[in-house]
Amino acid sequence: MKKIVDVLRSQGNHWVGDGFPVRSLFSYHDESAAISPFLLFDYAGPHHFDPTDTPRGVGQHPHRGFETVTIVYDGEVAHRDSAGNGGVIGPGDVQWMTAARGIIHEEFHSPNYTKTGGPFRMVQLWVNLPAKDKMSPAGYQAITNADIPVVPFPGGKARIIAGTFRGARGPARTFTPVNLWDLRLEKKADLTLELPEGHNSMVAVLAGRVVINGEQTVGEAEIVRLAREGDAITIRAEQDAILLVLTGEPINEPVVGYGPFVMNTTAEIRQAADDFNNGRFGQVAPAQPLA
Ligand code: MN
Repeated sequence: MKKIVDVLRSQGNHWVGDGFPVRSLFSYHDESAAISPFLLFDYAGPHHFDPTDTPRGVGQHPHRGFETVTIVYDGEVAHRDSAGNGGVIGPGDVQWMTAARGIIHEEFHSPNYTKTGGPFRMVQLWVNLPAKDKMSPAGYQAITNADIPVVPFPGGKARIIAGTFRGARGPARTFTPVNLWDLRLEKKADLTLELPEGHNSMVAVLAGRVVINGEQTVGEAEIVRLAREGDAITIRAEQDAILLVLTGEPINEPVVGYGPFVMNTTAEIRQAADDFNNGRFGQVAPAQPLA
């Protein structure tokens, strides 16, 4: 069994722009080695937005040195970036954006969701890149709900976004070994979950309440962090639950970050700021009509 190391909780709420009411459940600023290759876990919502005319969100900003993974549960998010990519993702969809050597993007509620309003729930994960890939070309994977294999089991199902689960392979391409599974459990579900030995592994509870290894109750907006040693945990659902399981092979390299840049040295951070300030991250293309 993988032993429980600790339970991570939000240190407080903040808004990202005016569109994303976020609880940060972990950040590499607190501890980087034990969560590597993950850097940041922002849980936005659940929140109800009223209809309005002007899309809420966050305007153009840069990233360098890692990937942002946006998973939508409720609502719709529109994205445009300096690599020429864009689109709208809705419930069940995932956007896997590789900032790598540099990208500028904006993240807003879609025009359609802006008009209708309604429930909003989203996760944004930052996933680190190894030093050798930090200056790779930027990339964008639009992963739709239909692309994501579903593995049913007694009392629930798993959607495999990245990595493998019971023989099913997720569609996301990753730079280092990563598993990312969206688990839905019904109340009283009892599950043994195999997790890779040697990976940093975490189970985030987005809704509901579960008991891990028969000993630790974990509720909404809490993450249980597990030991690298061992290869399985048990999960019992005390309520209907939405979980996000993340595991990854640790990247054993220094992590130096500042704002939207995460590199290996302070010199590389200075270079990132200099490149951004001198227009070397490119430009976001003019607005396209979005569905
Ligand atoms: Mn961003």
